[in-house]
Amino acid sequence: MDHSSYNPFKIAQYQFDKVADLLELDEGVRKLLRQPMREYHFTIPVRMDDGNVRVFNGFRVQHNDARGPAKGGIRFHPMETIDTVRALSMWMTWKCAVVDIPLGGGKGGVICDPHQLSMREQEQICRGWVRQLAKNIGPWSDVPAPDVMTNGQHMLWMLDEFETIHGGRFPGFITGKPLGSGGSQGRTEATGFGVVYVIGAALEELGINIEKTTASIQGFGNVAQYAARLYTQHGGKVVAISCWDQTDMTSYTYRKKGGVNVIELQEIADKFGGIDKKLAADLGYEQLPGDAWLQQEVDILIPAAIESQIHRGNVDLISPKVKVIAEGANGPTTPEADEVLLQRGILTLPDFLANAGGVTCSYFEQVQCNSNYFWDKHEVLDKLEKYMTTAFTMVSEVSRRQKIGMRDAAYVIAINRVAQAVQARGWA
Ligand code: NAD
Repeated sequence: MDHSSYNPFKIAQYQFDKVADLLELDEGVRKLLRQPMREYHFTIPVRMDDGNVRVFNGFRVQHNDARGPAKGGIRFHPMETIDTVRALSMWMTWKCAVVDIPLGGGKGGVICDPHQLSMREQEQICRGWVRQLAKNIGPWSDVPAPDVMTNGQHMLWMLDEFETIHGGRFPGFITGKPLGSGGSQGRTEATGFGVVYVIGAALEELGINIEKTTASIQGFGNVAQYAARLYTQHGGKVVAISCWDQTDMTSYTYRKKGGVNVIELQEIADKFGGIDKKLAADLGYEQLPGDAWLQQEVDILIPAAIESQIHRGNVDLISPKVKVIAEGANGPTTPEADEVLLQRGILTLPDFLANAGGVTCSYFEQVQCNSNYFWDKHEVLDKLEKYMTTAFTMVSEVSRRQKIGMRDAAYVIAINRVAQAVQARGWA
């Protein structure tokens, strides 16, 4: 069966069912965990700048909060669907559980295109979203964060509305806030750095010196840039970077003799993680087709752009030299390609482990806000590395012991932890 034709929620349920079978999960727990505990669907009326009222549709899904308050981003997207939000909320439950932070899974969204909205209209959507949910979210129940097309400014408007309604200061209500307004040091770097912390731990287990390795990366946005930076700081060599070109509406892979200079590419990248072709050429970069990143003879591949990039149609193009694939992006590998990678013995660090640095740092932000005491960057990154490498070690042990792939092993740990919390509370 072609799993890529499923909707995201069906994929999330398929992955869950597979591990639930493996774990021989109790029937009641299984029924509870394969769907969200709560869903809110609502309208947000906004008086637009032209004087007309437009009604937007918003969602919040709380998949499971047995281990702690639900946690997850709010997406603004014109194609947003409830099934995407459901799937993402379920994946958040597993992500928080695998890195063992005391949070559950949630996700939210509004069907809208911020590019077509003024700042005032966006502010009204943010405030309207909170007004519709104010009784059902909060620092001790459900903590939102930025996601696709939302940012720190949106979070501050939401925080302000929440505090106005509840009368007080509750900075731990929402994360991803700017520094100086309750944000945490290290949040910008956290996801990309987290990817490299788990790569480092994996290479150590494989007995490979990171300084002797090469990598090829898809994407040059937040996750990819910081992953590339830390990886090169540790002595690794980035051979190629692939990213989307907004002008040509296609992607290109950039490669340079002697390796990519991450800092110089960062200087010519735009805020969407795009690289100007001409400026890159001036710096001596050759320009290959967008999917050439996957075919490089490197030790490590880091897909850090969008979903479904390694699939049945291109997985065989991956070089035999590749030993590790670290999924910086969410869902970059389709289930069919995943099977092939497993058979080829390539160590795949699954997305909800490899990119969990972001949510772990958001948890740190919450902790700092709730105690009104902020840590310096060194302390944040030190703690982040500890959480990420500990999670990797546990997943790797389960993978070895049970002779299953890293993705299934990560699911086994996460689902077990959530199932135990559900049962301990007497829910099932
Ligand atoms: P971003 O928007 O900053 O960057 C995305 C990058 O992908 C850009 O460089 C863009 O050019 C590139 N891209 C898009 N389509 C492409 C294509 N077809 N081929 C090649 N490159 C392409 O996004 P980000 O925040 O870096 O997130 C990247 C991925 O990581 C997403 O899947 C996101 O869900 C996931 N993620 C991000 C975070 C985080 O904290 N930012 C946390 C967890 C997971």
